[in-house]
Amino acid sequence: MGKRESLRRVDVAIVGAGVAGLAAARDLAEHGFTVEVLEARDRIGGRVFTTWTDAIAHPIELGAEFLHGDTPETDRISREAGATILDIEGDRWYSERTRFRPSPDDFFEKLDIIMKRLKKLKGPDVSFGEFLDTMPGGRRFARERALARQWVQGFHAAEPALASARALADGGSPGDDEEEQRQARLADGYSAIPDHLASALPRAPRLGTVVTEVAWSRGDVELTLRSTSGRALPSLAARAVVVTVPLSVLKAPRDVEGSIVFAPELPVARREEMGRLEMGHVLRLSVVLDERVWITDPPRVMKAGEKSLRSMAFLHPARGGMPVVWTTYPVEAPMLIAWMGGPAAVALQREGRPAIEQRIVRALAETLHMTPRRFDKHVVACHLHDWTADPYSQGAYSYVGVGGTESAVALARPVQGTLFFAGEAYDSEGRNGTVEGALGSGRKAARQVRRVLG
Ligand SMILES: Cc1cc2nc3c(=O)[nH]c(=O)nc-3n(C[C@H](O)[C@H](O)[C@H](O)COP(=O)(O)OP(=O)(O)OC[C@H]3O[C@@H](n4cnc5c(N)ncnc54)[C@H](O)[C@@H]3O)c2cc1C
Repeated sequence: MGKRESLRRVDVAIVGAGVAGLAAARDLAEHGFTVEVLEARDRIGGRVFTTWTDAIAHPIELGAEFLHGDTPETDRISREAGATILDIEGDRWYSERTRFRPSPDDFFEKLDIIMKRLKKLKGPDVSFGEFLDTMPGGRRFARERALARQWVQGFHAAEPALASARALADGGSPGDDEEEQRQARLADGYSAIPDHLASALPRAPRLGTVVTEVAWSRGDVELTLRSTSGRALPSLAARAVVVTVPLSVLKAPRDVEGSIVFAPELPVARREEMGRLEMGHVLRLSVVLDERVWITDPPRVMKAGEKSLRSMAFLHPARGGMPVVWTTYPVEAPMLIAWMGGPAAVALQREGRPAIEQRIVRALAETLHMTPRRFDKHVVACHLHDWTADPYSQGAYSYVGVGGTESAVALARPVQGTLFFAGEAYDSEGRNGTVEGALGSGRKAARQVRRVLG
């Protein structure tokens, strides 16, 4: 393991300064452990990435945006940070070829028609796609099945042919639980969470530091480090390591940027469990406008006397390939966010940024029943981060593959009291793919480390 005497040594090395890594680091530092957080990018936050521009007095989220359902951990940190949480209780609208109409508020009810049938599934796990192929509900519920497919692709960012039906039955939709249907956002941006967690650390995370190898034996690790430009950096030794890189980075072959070599290799059983979790892909484009065109120039197909679009929060276009578009409601800012998940997002991402912007801007114009030329005049800027091409995420967030309902629990267990794993993919309470899940898994890993290192 190299020249050990000259190595810098800490109690716990943490790989990744996303919310999981920062939550773990903070807990351990508060309990008196020496901790070093190593982060490949030149910023903290990972898949929480808020930016600001002069063009609009509203944060632009390139990664996570919403607090979904009950989020005690996120709420607590927000309170500590003095950050305001805004609940979103606006209206949902549908845009169709000849109509623009308010949603009858039965979105989750319709989804539940299919999800309830999913819960009755017996026998071995199958993919959600296979389950849909059995035509649950028969001909009558074809629209509901289409909606459920769209939900799994859009919300879970999942490929139906790979997603576990059992996992979706267990917690794939909020059902009729209003608390679980809650959506909220942080008024000044999600980055308030990682910023606050990092501010409490005795030592700032080391940015631009890529971990390429973890050599380990019980109670002893040595991390090989380099800069993003490829320059070798001095190694770091520790009694334990908490690895929080995204699932896809952990699964990546050794010659791919971001990947980490474990020496000795991770146990076979663990690699098999990793194979039962999948990484989802999304494409979100934030389109900054000069005014809220849906209010200043409402769709002409709207019926006279229809209620105003002032409180429109979500919009479901019937065409254009985007399952959902949203506004910044209740904040009145001139911005629309277009969202696609699953296979459609991957396909469009491959076309490159100019094509993505052009296609989505055109689809937005169509959704608002405007000509592309008229809509184009209002577009100030587009913001996008390609999480699939980014070597330090290689996708958006994880979902459970067929047979993988127990994998997160298995993967959250430490290896020989030395290698600990945290991150959204390892949340064992069904909150994988969320900030809340990542925070919870970070804290859980810290508790495990404390128990072992005492
Ligand atoms: C577009 C998008 C929208 C989302 N929307 C929501 C939402 O609305 N609500 C919600 O709750 N969640 C949402 N999520 C998911 C949420 O962002 C994640 O679940 C959460 O931020 C993951 O945190 P993490 O700490 O597990 O991983 P990350 O934030 O990915 O942290 C891992 C860190 O490891 C670093 N790293 C990787 N490789 C190396 C290496 N070799 N060496 C050193 N460092 C390395 C990375 O740079 C990164 O900073 C969204 C995600 C995306 C991409």
